[in-house]
Amino acid sequence: MHTDPNCIFCKIVAGQIPARKVHEDDELLAFHDIAPWAPVHVLIIPKTHIVSMAEVTDAEAALLGRMMTLSPKLMRDLGVTNGFRHIINTGVDGAQEVMHLHLHVMGGPRPWSKG
Ligand code: 5GP
Ligand code: ZN
Repeated sequence: MHTDPNCIFCKIVAGQIPARKVHEDDELLAFHDIAPWAPVHVLIIPKTHIVSMAEVTDAEAALLGRMMTLSPKLMRDLGVTNGFRHIINTGVDGAQEVMHLHLHVMGGPRPWSKG
């Protein structure tokens, strides 16, 4: 597993920064976004430090698939029954702020504050 000691999400994985976790297994961690813009807004991350979708290769295909298939389970667990939205921001022009790959999953009744 790769870790970047300066990465905020690696620090969450290591337990050095608190987060409201909703799922954890050997490969993935999911937690509530600190600044949600929907009633439910969670981030699903690989525990290993992958910077972004721009760095992903076929070797990560199963890991990315698991991130996607975890999302409907989390939404069900969190009471989201009427649809949800995925976003992955990549790089500067993609408006990525945290340089550790993360899948935004948002749901809950509208209106939302963004999106
Ligand atoms: P990006 O723009 O990189 O796709 O989104 C980064 C997301 O991470 C933002 O929605 C932001 O609110 C969230 N975030 C940034 N720092 C923290 C943190 O320390 N804890 C949690 N739970 N979320 C964070
Ligand atoms: Zn990281």
